[in-house]
Amino acid sequence: MIRPDLFDRLALAHAERERAQLSRRLRSVDQNDGSHLQIAGKQLLAFCSNDYLGLANHPQIVAALKNAADANGVGSTAAHLICGHNREHAALEEELADWTGRERALLFSTGYMANLGVLQTLLHAGDLCVQDKLNHASLLDAVRLSGAELKRYPHSDVAAVQRQLESRPDKLALLASDGVFSMDGDIAPLVHLATLCKKQQTSLMIDDAHGVGIFGKQGAGSVAAAGLSQHDVPVLMATLGKAVGTCGAFVAGSAALIDALTQSARSYIYTTALPPALAAATRTALRLVRADEWRREKLHKLIERFRRGALQLGLPLPDSTSAIQPILLGAAAESLALAQALEARGLLVTAIRPPTVRAATSRLRITLSAAHTEADVDRLLDALDACIPSAIRTARRSAIHQ
Ligand code: PMP
Repeated sequence: MIRPDLFDRLALAHAERERAQLSRRLRSVDQNDGSHLQIAGKQLLAFCSNDYLGLANHPQIVAALKNAADANGVGSTAAHLICGHNREHAALEEELADWTGRERALLFSTGYMANLGVLQTLLHAGDLCVQDKLNHASLLDAVRLSGAELKRYPHSDVAAVQRQLESRPDKLALLASDGVFSMDGDIAPLVHLATLCKKQQTSLMIDDAHGVGIFGKQGAGSVAAAGLSQHDVPVLMATLGKAVGTCGAFVAGSAALIDALTQSARSYIYTTALPPALAAATRTALRLVRADEWRREKLHKLIERFRRGALQLGLPLPDSTSAIQPILLGAAAESLALAQALEARGLLVTAIRPPTVRAATSRLRITLSAAHTEADVDRLLDALDACIPSAIRTARRSAIHQ
């Protein structure tokens, strides 16, 4: 028998993706000034970055990065537990704990790694992890790594969560949910989930990658905005590469949780620490996130302006008060064609297709930022009006309301 070839299988998968128009395109950005990107010499007004507060290019943050690199060099040179843990990391961790109202916080190099580390530390084979079907991929991958049993519930369906937890009263359990869903932009039913977790003696973990900076006092996130404390949500994870404008992630919670992660989370232990200069830049960014209430106010006004205009145009928008405002189209080919039509008009909007979203739920994922102006939003609305046929608008809108 001849062993089949791995690369033949790759070629087949590639051909299949191409046929279904599901291949993704990797393009290099020449320049990024917040709301505008330059790609292959062409200037594009972008509605696809997660730089929700427009901080990624802020001169004070850039200066903090440069100054700290002068003082500390570029690389952290090792993992945290070897000699990579710099006082800039330690100071940032204290500030992140203070911001989110938690006892302590721990930095990870990415949000993906933070989620892997948390679930692998908290859950063992035989435990139960209950997750929303629309959770971020990293939470799903994390539970596979942990060996725990995974039960996924229909999006935001609290009654289904209750049934799943009640069916396994004997098991140690963790409920994990995005705070703000990354592809739909809606907020999880946080208070209901927290109440249920208390009744069911289940720990609650919220991934607030898209909520921090945007919601709550000083931008402390969707969990804080819902009035929930460390007692209600003992495991809080958030990323720094979105509203905060830099890179990395953190987990915040009790001293016991942070000590356990420091000792056991493999994605923390066996990886190089973030550059200290990045931690210093993030400290400056965090000060701006907390102090500049006007950025959040501006963002929320732009979100309202976009939604008002898009609904007037009959565009199919789900209920979302966050910076993520998807236009639900369904077919992958249609989403791609619309993204291309918008790009021809100088606008960059990403078409999101399977496997990132479920089959037949392809969409344009529009993200707004405080770096945009009202005129930018109006330009986007004009372009959507010109590019999206009216048949799609009424048909899809009624589908959403069903
Ligand atoms: N969680 C959610 C909800 C996310 O949207 C993302 C990033 N897209 C991550 C985790 C991973 O974060 P990072 O990009 O820092 O790895």
